[in-house]
This record gives sequence, structure tokens and C-alpha cells, in this order.
Amino acid sequence: SDESDWEVGDLELGGEAEGGLAVPVVAIVGRPNVGKSTLVNRILGRREAVVEDIPGVTRDRVSYDANWIGRRFTVVDTGGWEPDAKGLQQAVAAQAELAMRTADAIVLVVDATVGATATDEAVARVLRRSKTPVILAANKIDSERAEAEAATLWSLGLGEPHPVSAAHGRGAGDLLDVILEVLPETPREATTLGGPRRVALVGKPNVGKSSLLNKLAGSERSVVDNVAGTTVDPVDELVELDGKTWQFIDTAGLRRKVRTASGHEYYASLRTRSALDAAEVAILLIDASEPITEQDLRVLSLIIESGRALVIAFNKWDLVDEDRRLRLDKEIDRELARVPWARRVNISASTGRSVQKLVPALEGALESWDRRVSTGQLNNWLKDVIAATPPPLRGGRQPRVMFATQAATRPPTFVLFTTGFLEAGYRRFLERRLREQFGFDGSPVRINVRVRD
Ligand code: GDP
Ligand code: GDP
Repeated sequence: SDESDWEVGDLELGGEAEGGLAVPVVAIVGRPNVGKSTLVNRILGRREAVVEDIPGVTRDRVSYDANWIGRRFTVVDTGGWEPDAKGLQQAVAAQAELAMRTADAIVLVVDATVGATATDEAVARVLRRSKTPVILAANKIDSERAEAEAATLWSLGLGEPHPVSAAHGRGAGDLLDVILEVLPETPREATTLGGPRRVALVGKPNVGKSSLLNKLAGSERSVVDNVAGTTVDPVDELVELDGKTWQFIDTAGLRRKVRTASGHEYYASLRTRSALDAAEVAILLIDASEPITEQDLRVLSLIIESGRALVIAFNKWDLVDEDRRLRLDKEIDRELARVPWARRVNISASTGRSVQKLVPALEGALESWDRRVSTGQLNNWLKDVIAATPPPLRGGRQPRVMFATQAATRPPTFVLFTTGFLEAGYRRFLERRLREQFGFDGSPVRINVRVRD
């Protein structure tokens, strides 16, 4: 159901989205004044020194994009909140609980010049049963002489205390190394990009897939040799378009037509699925001269499931007259309402009309598919949207959106941390506004909601 799609209670923020680049989350916890904010600034190298609070959205949590020796991660600072009537120990323990559910690594910051307080001990008790790795930072060790003070923190039962001076930078590099060691490996962007972009040409039988491929491969040189450093499956084909090489997936399957009556549809859908798996972007061919059919929509569903970027090519445009065009517009409104973001091109594979428009459409869609919005930008936008249109009450309670982060690209995947359920209508509203603000034309966008219980 719609609801279960959205309620990703066991979502692993650090988990790699299919083919995507997940960014792991590091939560910084500890009682007030131990130096959490100072440490976050140190981790960010003060590059993102705009350590502004984001009122309304993240009363108690602020998160930032960080990068250490080429590894990206998100740092979540729990420093902004004020201890209230609930009591300090309980508040800090609650922060630790939240960190355990949402982060890939937790850094507990303790003021080593003070030693372990009752509050530190209470948090440590919570964190000792954490499955998420916990790193103990013994802060305010400003000199070598002070290092002995860190050793007393072994008593917290969280392993080795790592001496650091957030204020002066002493030991910060070592601490970051330890943090990265426990973080899940994330693929680097450079290794996943760089080769030819992979395109799946999909659509029901007879829409013109092989005609289009012939036109594309014939209009310009079809690259026969392997491009250096790439391994191309022999069933794929490298095609040069506008001076750039593209890898069309399973072209052998497109050319070798199996038109047996029984089971044809089933095998066609298997082949479509596997082509989509291997691809980054899909061109969905639809016969513009005929009504959009159930079969077209089944292929569309496979594309949506795959999370690939999408260009819709309305083929056989040479057969489309004014009358058909008006009817097609209505069909598009009705049948393709699920993918208002898809890029559309009207082409004729026979005459070659507008086929060159496919290239900018593919490039734009891939650009959206790869795009990352910084956590700062995202939360600034979220703050404004929520201030203007707060989530509707549920059971008399106002759900609060604490913060958002883009957990993955390819496709862009966002996680909203909330204190209550967000209704489907409101989530769709957020997606619309997100697209208005940041684009993502041609790419699906996933929004997961994590409800803090
Ligand atoms: P938070 O409440 O945990 O976020 O703590 P802050 O980062 O706001 O720091 C609290 C106080 O401790 C500030 O006055 C900081 O300047 C100071 N502080 C933070 N790190 C260090 C450190 O490494 N050495 C010393 N001497 N002071 C620090
Ligand atoms: P596939 O099964 O999707 O690979 O479709 P084909 O490329 O084999 O095309 C099926 C039929 O549609 C062939 O007879 C093509 O000549 C015809 N066809 C393909 N593209 C166009 C087009 O743009 N205009 C017209 N009029 N016919 C086309």
C-alpha cells in the first residue's frame, strides 16, 4: 500500500540504495558544553561555518555534509537543544536512542577535564547496548600533559577514549580516521561515473525500438571497438551521439526478435527488467499514433520500480495528425500522471524527425538522477515550506519534521525524520515543492519518512 511504501521504519540510512551513493550518518551526542558544536565545526573544517540553527525544523538537531579525505558523510549535531524540565539525563539518553536508530556511527563527546559525570554515565549505559559503533571522544585535551585525564574515561565501558581538542584541533585527524574506519564503505562517485552512460530502450513490441536503434546507430558511427577501460557486454552496443559515446543495453535482444505467441509477454518483461537493471536511464517508446495501452503502462511500471531516470519518446510522430494529437494529450494526462517529471520527446524513427532531441533529454535526466542537494540547502528549504504549510494534525497532534537529508543519489533519495506520521497528501505536497525548488526533471525522487517513536 501507499502507506507501507513510505513508512520505512527499518530503513538503513547508510545502506546503499540500489546503484546509488549512500552517504553514511555520524551522530555527535553528549551533554551540553562538552564541545559538540566545536567538534562539528572542526570536522567540517569550518568550511560550512554557517552553524546556524534551523528553527522550527531542527530544534534539537542540525546536520551538515562533511568530507574527510574524499569520503563523504553527514554529521548530525545534537548540540542545539536546551535541557528542559524533562531532566538532563533523560534528554541526553533520548538523543542517544535516536542516534542509535538513525546513525551509522555515534561519537559520544565527554569533557575529559571534568571526567565522567552522572549524565555521561547514563548516556554510556544506553550506548553500551548499541549495535551502531560508538566512538568515545575525550574532549578538551588541549595538551599532551592533559592526555592522562582521558584514560579515566575507560570507566564508561565504551572502549578506548580518543583524546581530542575540538577547540585547537589536536587529535582531530586521528578521531576522524577512527570514525571513517567504522563507517560503512561508500562507493566513490568517480568510479561509478566516467564510462559511457547506459541506456535501456524499452517499450512494447512494434513500437519501433529496433528502428530507433538503427536510426541512432546509422545516423552516426556505431562504435565497434571497445572504448578503452570499459567492458561492454557483447549484447550491448556502443553508439556515438553528438560526439559522446552511449551504451545501449541488450541491443542484441532488440534485434533478435522472438515473436512466439505463448509466453512472449513474460519473456519480454524479463528482458526489460534485466535491461533496466543494467541501465541508468530508460527511453520508453510509445506509439503516438495509437492509443496508449495497458502494455505501455506495464513497461512504465517496470521503469518506475527500477528507479531509473526516464525519457518518454512518442514514436511514429509522422503518423500523428491534429486530431490524434489532441487525443494523445488527454491520454497523457490520464495515463502518465504518475510520471509528470519524465522528459518527453516526439520523434519518428522512420524519418529521423527529432531523434537528435533524445540526447539533451537523456543528459538532463541523468544530471537530475545524479544530483545531490546539500543538507544545509535542503533543511533551509524545508524550514520555509513547513513554516508556510505545516503538516496536518493527526489525532490532535502536530507532527514535527526534525530534519531531512539526502541519503542517496541515482535516484535522489531523501529521508525525513519526523515525530509523527505524515499523510500521503502532505508527502506528495513535499515532493512537488522539492521538485519546484531543486528540479530533478527526468528523474524519480524517493522520499522516506522515519518516524521517531
Ligand atoms: P556543546 O554544548 O556540547 O555543543 O559545546 P560547545 O561546542 O558549545 O562548547 C562548549 C564550550 O567548551 C565552549 O566555550 C567551547 O569553546 C569550549 N570547548 C569546546 N571544545 C574545547 C576544547 O577542545 N578545549 C577547550 N579548552 N575548550 C573547548
Ligand atoms: P520493435 O518491435 O519495437 O523493435 O519495433 P520495430 O522497430 O520493429 O518497428 C515495428 C514497425 O513499426 C516496423 O514496421 C517499423 O517500420 C515501424 N516503425 C517504426 N518506427 C516508425 C515511425 O517512426 N514511423 C512509422 N510510420 N513507422 C515506424
